[in-house]
Amino acid sequence: MTAKFPDIAPRLPAAEGHDWPEFRPGWVWLTGAGPGDPGLLTLNALHGLREADVVVHDALVDPRILSWARPGARLIHSGKRGGKASPKQRDITLHLVELARAGNRVLRLKGGDPFVFGRGGEEALGLVEAGIPFRVVPGISSGVGGLAHAGIPVTHRDVNQSVTFVTGHDKRGLAPVTVDWEAVAKASPVVVIYMGMKHLGEIAAAMIAAGRAGSEPVAIVTDASLPTQRVLETSLATAAADAEAAGMQPPALIVVGRNVLLRQALDWAGQMAGEPPRSLDPLGTRAQDDAAEG
Ligand code: SAH
Repeated sequence: MTAKFPDIAPRLPAAEGHDWPEFRPGWVWLTGAGPGDPGLLTLNALHGLREADVVVHDALVDPRILSWARPGARLIHSGKRGGKASPKQRDITLHLVELARAGNRVLRLKGGDPFVFGRGGEEALGLVEAGIPFRVVPGISSGVGGLAHAGIPVTHRDVNQSVTFVTGHDKRGLAPVTVDWEAVAKASPVVVIYMGMKHLGEIAAAMIAAGRAGSEPVAIVTDASLPTQRVLETSLATAAADAEAAGMQPPALIVVGRNVLLRQALDWAGQMAGEPPRSLDPLGTRAQDDAAEG
């Protein structure tokens, strides 16, 4: 029988020579919650959840993760402060400062990793400015761990020696004009785009204009690592239309590159559900590898 939430709320292991960090009153922990699946939370994040007086969380943090907070802890959805739909980043930071000054242990919980397109740096700067002590607890970023749940390795020796993580959204919600798409397209065999759904058509066109083939494989992964995860395999030229036709909704990661082909063999979640691998040699490199090894 598999245990169900919350009766498996995990206990932190004790290890000789390792002490869990002390969460002191008046401190803020800027913490990553991972891409979604509660099992992808780090132990330090779980420890923080167990100790915090207040948890200030983003919309992307799974409710089952929040259910692990210390009983009696205050949970604050940072997206809905004071009835306003979407508070300014400055307001969120000021709120963290107020809560810490009042002597709370404040866990600031964000999806993925707080320092990867998570504005963790902005909040940390605000804390430093206000003289609030803080710790950063990294998380698994969706652009790495979320893709792993879709059976897509973010690097693979036969495909890429580098990867670019890029945002498809700038501070004002526009397609990022500050991104040099030509440089990105030329430099990096694999490009992972966060927050890219709204401007997918423009981004794909810019990458094609910069020399990427319209036929290049693209995957769009929504709700990565969650039971509602969906993956659409498409190409650069057809990505925007296919995503729309399939009704792919954010949060979504878009990955451009031949590493997407590996999913034909490595879609472990699909295989757990009974789908056989579509190919055992998705990159067509097996014969060469055998020859090289002689
Ligand atoms: N700090 C986060 C990113 C925050 S920006 C991280 O490290 O993952 C929010 C964007 O992250 C979303 O628009 C989407 O592009 C991506 N994202 C986060 N969680 C996701 C998930 N479970 N599935 C797909 N995309 C996700």
